[in-house]
Amino acid sequence: PVRVRLAPSPTGSLHIGTARTAVFNWLYARHLGGEFILRIEDTDQARSRPEYTQNILDGLKWLGLNWDEGPFYQSQRMDLYRQQIQSLLDRGLAYRAYETPEELSAMREAQQARSEAPRYNNQHRDLTPAQIAAFEAEGRSAVIRFKLDRDRTITWNDLVRGPVQWQGSDLGGDMVLARAAAPGEVGQPLYNFVVVVDDADMQITHVIRGEDHIGNTPKQILLYEALDVDIPKFAHTPLILNSSGQKLSKRDGVTSISDFQSMGFTAEALANYMTLLGWSPPNTQELFTLAEAAEHFSFDRVNKAGAKFDWDKLDWINSQYLHETPPAQLLEMIVPYLKSADYDFELERDRDWLLPLAAMIGPSLTRLKDCIELSRFYFTPTVDYDDAAQKQLSLEGVPELMTAVKSALEDSSGLTTTEDAKALINQVTKAQGVKKGLIMKSLRAALMGTMQGPDLVESWLILHRRGYDRKRLEGAIS
Ligand code: GLU
Repeated sequence: PVRVRLAPSPTGSLHIGTARTAVFNWLYARHLGGEFILRIEDTDQARSRPEYTQNILDGLKWLGLNWDEGPFYQSQRMDLYRQQIQSLLDRGLAYRAYETPEELSAMREAQQARSEAPRYNNQHRDLTPAQIAAFEAEGRSAVIRFKLDRDRTITWNDLVRGPVQWQGSDLGGDMVLARAAAPGEVGQPLYNFVVVVDDADMQITHVIRGEDHIGNTPKQILLYEALDVDIPKFAHTPLILNSSGQKLSKRDGVTSISDFQSMGFTAEALANYMTLLGWSPPNTQELFTLAEAAEHFSFDRVNKAGAKFDWDKLDWINSQYLHETPPAQLLEMIVPYLKSADYDFELERDRDWLLPLAAMIGPSLTRLKDCIELSRFYFTPTVDYDDAAQKQLSLEGVPELMTAVKSALEDSSGLTTTEDAKALINQVTKAQGVKKGLIMKSLRAALMGTMQGPDLVESWLILHRRGYDRKRLEGAIS
């Protein structure tokens, strides 16, 4: 069966690039009925943090990217890595190198002085037992290096990029598998090694990851061979680019999934958008669930070129999702934002006006966060009048009209339905002998303080339930 994995390092929050990689892994696994495995690559104890692991797990769950196995933690698998390193040492495929940091930087400087690319010159590959004994007697610590065959040509057929070829001589000097440790010990094993041990141990069939890892793949292929295990297939997915065509990075502002979440993108919309970052469905459909995308997913339709991050498109998709969300559900979704703005309400007590409010602003939302501005006006007893509204309210006869509306309101038994409000408007129109348009415009100015905005009658009902309409009519008259 197909087995794929996501292998995030918990050195930061779940990044959009990692999440998009997760989406492609998930889609591929689901398309083929395979398994999606989650592995937390936390070998770097100094940079890994439990709160980032939590952020990654939460983000994947929120997006609906459920995994079938894991999370596995590399920090709990050190024995396996050390055992595998020992076996490479025993078979003469890896060795201890004893250079001090000073010696290594002197090596680099000498190479630079000769205009050579700096690389480890493999000088400790074939130390004699006497040399080793001397270094150890000095108490020198040693890294473990893997013997890279410089004469090899390494090729693979990338599922996205097609045939890829690397020369062993382009891979630098013998690679470090484990950091420095005291004589006779094995230090902290490093990414290129542990990733191979784990992918082999977890029987990963397809390694799907960002193109930034493409230079690691030839080294990893040599390690699979050295460990004598099956080499998986590779798919290197295009990078996500910013508007100037560079790799999207922290400097571009929002890049972590939790930030997108707090800005008010829905999980469905963000997941939908991420599938389009580098992939396109065989039909022209742009709105779909992850499960729908999985039906059609294949690497044939993954681009080689980088995928530009397009905020307008994401906004458009998000608004489509929000516009289709039923008011009751939308209300639950906007409550945290209304609370964050310190608006005074209680969900259960005020549902009778909160629900129509959600229904009314829903079609105007692009991001959930927009609800704060769009509904500010319903949470304050009075309102500021903009220029257009002031002009409307100072037209001849308008203050009198608003006085008439106010007294009709006081005489009525209250406004419960849109019919009640419309009847009251008609009544005043008739009694005052004016055009209905004039009343509607003036009422909008008086109640909302602006000439644009949501439906007048619906808004009025909400303001009426809150007891704010009388105050505003008074404000408009004075
Ligand atoms: N821990 C690596 C990363 O987060 C995983 C790369 C891979 O998928 O091999 O970039």
